[in-house]
Amino acid sequence: ETVFVHDLEKPLALEKVKHIVAVSSGKGGVGKSTVASNLAVALAKLGYKVGLVDADIYGPSMPKMFGCEDASPYMVEVGGKELIEPVVKYGVKLLSIGFFVDPDSATVWRGPMASNALKQMVEGGFWDELDFMLIDLPPGTSDIHLTLVQTVALSGAIVVSTPQQVALADAVKGINMFESPGIQVPVLGLVENMSWFTPAELPDNKYYIFGKEGAKKLADEKGLRLLGQIPIVQSIMEGGENGSPVALDEDSVTGQAFIELARNVA
Ligand code: ADP
Repeated sequence: ETVFVHDLEKPLALEKVKHIVAVSSGKGGVGKSTVASNLAVALAKLGYKVGLVDADIYGPSMPKMFGCEDASPYMVEVGGKELIEPVVKYGVKLLSIGFFVDPDSATVWRGPMASNALKQMVEGGFWDELDFMLIDLPPGTSDIHLTLVQTVALSGAIVVSTPQQVALADAVKGINMFESPGIQVPVLGLVENMSWFTPAELPDNKYYIFGKEGAKKLADEKGLRLLGQIPIVQSIMEGGENGSPVALDEDSVTGQAFIELARNVA
């Protein structure tokens, strides 16, 4: 049973949302969703009101990353309109395509359906007051990206990449898309994920297995901010798998990395 709202005349849902920020990546698997989930939690920890829209239609991972796969949002009536009440977890208001569809069938969605679903979540959610609405986009530069920039007044976009050349090359395409004359969404900065590997038993050692500071160099070249560098740490992966993002533990080294990222974004 889908609960998408149709034919909303005006995005009532967004009246009290201060900043809408897209989290994007050129390539899949670089940790975009991991960054988006931890950034959302970290912003909430800093006291901001945060919403997160999981628009990664082809692989919605937020229900798992937030440990709420069984949640099913219900409808509320607000000002004579039916809106979707987001699921609230760890202080973050969450809507994911994963709440509405069987994850196995999401992969066969056509572009327009996917774009419509995104619009329904953004404009049809009962977000109320938010300082930040983060939108976790699918990787790449597709129809859904165009729909988003055409229908939602984005404050800016964050681009996530690993330091590896192939990931950076695709990140450039993403940056160029946002900065293109027809789109003109400010790129707030880059996040370098998987910057180095640190084994648990050697906490002071850094191994630059995807190359050193690739995203930092790209940020310098493009005149963009490097918003954060996130190491590869087993607990970051486990936090995603277990539904408890590492940013919940602000005393941990990994938690701090995301808190610092959140400070730079805010
Ligand atoms: P994307 O959204 O770009 O496809 P994900 O966030 O799903 O990428 O991450 C891909 C995989 O890498 C996941 O298994 C995730 O747990 C893991 N991962 C991402 N970032 C890190 C990190 N910094 N340290 C350890 N594992 C990570």
